[in-house]
Amino acid sequence: SSSSHSATAAPVMNKQEMQRYDGTDFPWYKELERHLKDTFHLSKFRPLQLRAMNLSMSSKDLFLVMPTGRGKSLCYQLPAVCSKGFTLVITPLVSLMEDQIMYLNSVNVPGVMLNASSSKEHSKTVMAGLTDVKAPFKLVYVTPEKIAKSKLLMSRLEKAYNANLLSRIAVDEVHCCSQWGHDFRPDYKLLGILKRQFPRVPLLGLTATATSSVLKDCEKILCVSKPVTLTASFNRTNLYYEVRIKDSNNNASISDIASLIDSRYKNQSGIVYVFSQKDAEFVASELQKRDILAYPYHATMDPVDKSRVHHKWASNKVKVVVATVAFGMGIDKPDVRFVIHHTISKSIENYYQESGRAGRDGHPADCIVYFGFSDIFRVSTMVVMENVGQQKLLKMVDYCQNVDRCRRSLMAVHFDEVWDDEGCNQMCDTCRHSEDHTSMDITQHAREVVQLLELAASMNEKLTPLKLVDAWMGRGPAKHRRLIQTTALSRLQAEAVIVQLLLQGYLREDFSFTPYTTHFYMKLGAKSPLLKNQNHKVSMKRRASVSDSVAVGSGQTKAKGGKRSVHRAGAGPVSKKVKEDLL
Ligand code: ADP
Ligand code: MG
Ligand code: ZN
Repeated sequence: SSSSHSATAAPVMNKQEMQRYDGTDFPWYKELERHLKDTFHLSKFRPLQLRAMNLSMSSKDLFLVMPTGRGKSLCYQLPAVCSKGFTLVITPLVSLMEDQIMYLNSVNVPGVMLNASSSKEHSKTVMAGLTDVKAPFKLVYVTPEKIAKSKLLMSRLEKAYNANLLSRIAVDEVHCCSQWGHDFRPDYKLLGILKRQFPRVPLLGLTATATSSVLKDCEKILCVSKPVTLTASFNRTNLYYEVRIKDSNNNASISDIASLIDSRYKNQSGIVYVFSQKDAEFVASELQKRDILAYPYHATMDPVDKSRVHHKWASNKVKVVVATVAFGMGIDKPDVRFVIHHTISKSIENYYQESGRAGRDGHPADCIVYFGFSDIFRVSTMVVMENVGQQKLLKMVDYCQNVDRCRRSLMAVHFDEVWDDEGCNQMCDTCRHSEDHTSMDITQHAREVVQLLELAASMNEKLTPLKLVDAWMGRGPAKHRRLIQTTALSRLQAEAVIVQLLLQGYLREDFSFTPYTTHFYMKLGAKSPLLKNQNHKVSMKRRASVSDSVAVGSGQTKAKGGKRSVHRAGAGPVSKKVKEDLL
């Protein structure tokens, strides 16, 4: 077992002892502070950074769980600079290494990397440096493959260890060790060798996404015994979360966004996230037509243009960037006041991350997502190849469709945390409108939709979600004349019902592939037979007052440009028309 190897086994620490590590009463503190300012040009530590550094400098093994962008890397970079010898950093991706090396070199911290594409000559220099008492490198980045496959590297590390030059081991993205994590890398499994061979060297594991069971697994795999675990809360208390219903008329949502930017966010920085490169161009030009200076940003743009847009935005010459998620890596603008999603994200985790680029300075900022029916299926075709992509997307849809639970609490479960309503403090639209919803019986609607799909199946027809809504509403192309029940619901209501049936398992999605595209169809779900039972009931919750046009979350702004052509069905029992109609 690993415990006998670890000279730094940390007994569980009590609160008081833990608080000591937030303090400045350590021999290395002056050095940390000096390099924080003079080398890294930062004014102060962020929450948990000093504690993490003090613990690691005290030779404790440590797992640090912190949201992306909070500054985990500094927790080993700064100790590396203040320690004798060098710090070994394990990173899963060469691109992450390159970014860090570039950054370190820009602040004159000597860092090098070793990976599969390193030249012989470069490797030689690095290997020699590992055992050089002058420690020419403070940080040495390697891929886990290198550790697993290079005996030369291991023998050099052993020499360095014996000469007390290996001061610390940092395992970045430590959740990659665990098969239960979402990003398992087989070579991470072999990293236990480090702690077994170098028991006196403190190990620091860093991640943004590990649950406690994943961490337990990592502990075993890395052969660390009882590491101290520091977990930053993922709750961004200064962010206001809101969902708005997106009309199938695309222009209405763009007008809505324009009027928000023009009023609530006047002269403030923000990002509008869109689904595709085409959307980035389109939405940016539509916003420009409405006198908003918005620049598009996406992956296929010329690199020069990309950095120009980034630069203009970072320096406040342009306030709004309309971007695909390619805009995000390396964005560290503190005063982003709004992140608007013109299209839903592919998962709640992604949404948390993308929207989390707002309000890094701790001041209030808004995260608004526009939720449109047809977007569900656009995103769906994008994630169809991913293992649990569909499931994750439906969770995102559930987040959007939800009208009665705190948006934060829906996010928190994804981070193994509990944020109660107090943790929200009315900083989401559902908490602000907590009484504003009613339950609606949709059993009859469900039966109609199911009948429609059965009818389609009997005619060997596949219905796309849009065709399904059209047919149910009595529109769509004339192919077969049949007796079906059309609905008196408005389009948005009809869409909401279908989404609800999808979420509850009465409907399900079905794909088919052509060489050029993926088609998406609606099918009967596992629960649909229940509807044959006359006593079976299906219900859905919906906003009571704002109806289904636009839910103005914070009640501050109403779209002025966007006149909605939403015709509302009469409240109360649904009036059904039975008519000879088209499928
Ligand atoms: P993570 O690994 O947690 O995702 P990084 O280590 O990449 O985050 O850091 C994200 C950004 O935060 C970097 O640009 C870094 O310079 C910045 N940062 C880190 N610590 C501080 C600090 N104490 N004050 C200001 N900025 C910081
Ligand atoms: Mg990181
Ligand atoms: Zn809330």
